[in-house]
Amino acid sequence: MATNMISNPEKIREIIDKCDVCYVGMVDTDGKPYVLPFNFGYEDGSIYLHMAQQGKKMDVLANNPNVCVAFSTDHKLFHRNEGVACSYGMHYRSVLAYGVAAFIEDYDEKVRIMNVTMKKYTGKDFLYNAPAIHNVAVYHIKVSKLEGKLSGYF
Ligand SMILES: Cc1cc2nc3c(=O)[nH]c(=O)nc-3n(C[C@H](O)[C@H](O)[C@H](O)COP(=O)(O)OP(=O)(O)OC[C@H]3O[C@@H](n4cnc5c(N)ncnc54)[C@H](O)[C@@H]3O)c2cc1C
Repeated sequence: MATNMISNPEKIREIIDKCDVCYVGMVDTDGKPYVLPFNFGYEDGSIYLHMAQQGKKMDVLANNPNVCVAFSTDHKLFHRNEGVACSYGMHYRSVLAYGVAAFIEDYDEKVRIMNVTMKKYTGKDFLYNAPAIHNVAVYHIKVSKLEGKLSGYF
């Protein structure tokens, strides 16, 4: 089955927009991989994460902000011969984004980022009370490299 790389930014954006979860690969404080699923917001060149102001991920990103974020969608099992295990495969569309996570402190920017995220999931803008914004940790991942790949689609 043909596998193709995608470089067209619009096609890459379509894939990311179809995903409701991304998988953020980090390097933990022992130099080991640490991967977590997150909901996210996306604008061209920027991925936004929000989280509670505690936990391992905060220590990990403070120690090393380099991340690799995986997105995938349109998963479809296929086979050429039903009785032959190695003829099975999966069609997919996927994207990898490499970048650096920056902790956002500015109140208005946190509100803007939360609205980018909420709009993705609900289509709506929201008003937030101050404690909610103060209590949430928000990261901006500035993407330095985006790679798209598809299998079984054109
Ligand atoms: C679909 C989905 C969407 C999510 N979206 C968000 C989001 O937008 N924001 C957010 O903050 N969190 C989100 N989560 C939860 C997130 O993946 C982490 O579990 C959570 O943020 C805690 O991470 P932590 O590093 O602070 O772990 P800690 O609370 O410090 O956990 C301690 C230990 O628990 C283990 N652990 C942590 N997370 C997981 C996990 N998901 N599965 C199994 N073991 C785990 C690790 O080994 C870690 O060492 C989402 C989870 C899912 C499944």
